[in-house]
Amino acid sequence: MDFPGNLFVVAAPSGAGKSSLVQELLSRDAGIQLSVSYTTRAPRGQEQDGREYLFIDRAEFEKRIKAGDFLEWAEVHGNLYGTSRHWLQQRMTQGVDVMLEIDWQGAEQVKQQFSNAVSIYILPPSYEELEARLMRRGEDAAEVIVRRLRDARVETPHASTFDFIIVNHDFSQALSDLQAVVAAQRLRYAAQRRAHPEVFKALGIL
Ligand code: 5GP
Repeated sequence: MDFPGNLFVVAAPSGAGKSSLVQELLSRDAGIQLSVSYTTRAPRGQEQDGREYLFIDRAEFEKRIKAGDFLEWAEVHGNLYGTSRHWLQQRMTQGVDVMLEIDWQGAEQVKQQFSNAVSIYILPPSYEELEARLMRRGEDAAEVIVRRLRDARVETPHASTFDFIIVNHDFSQALSDLQAVVAAQRLRYAAQRRAHPEVFKALGIL
């Protein structure tokens, strides 16, 4: 199936700077809406229910899996995460641009359902830098950091299946790379035709 707006899927190992990049992009680009996922993970730091995530327990999550509420879902670092099918379907009818900030397993499921989704993988410059960033963030216990670093070595090879790769060595460079991908996608034929129907009609282009 085709997504009628532009559908961006961003994944990265934990600590690569994905959330900061996405937040900065969204603060500069009012045309993209970010999906808020469901998770069984406990809130971290200043996180608020309904803002970063919709926090639910495992029983509720499993009930929702059975009901088919998730467009995709996956277990990541021992917790369950899923994207609301209902939310995305609503956005589809509006034809707006949507961003999903999910893991590589979810990205694969989305690609299977929406062949025109654009997938972007954000890489840290090294595993050493990834560890340093997770420590600096100071939000996770030592054993959680160890687990996330171990998972990162399993996750990063999946970058090879993504459409675009951004190395987050320097934040502002990575941000402009992300903006470049979004801008290029919006210049595709189908997207331009949606954005400027009057021009195509006036020029007699199908
Ligand atoms: P964190 O616990 O650090 O917020 O997220 C852990 C991982 O789960 C990140 O890679 C994040 O992108 C991913 N994640 C967040 N929401 C979803 C979702 O709805 N589906 C999937 N598959 N992964 C998600």
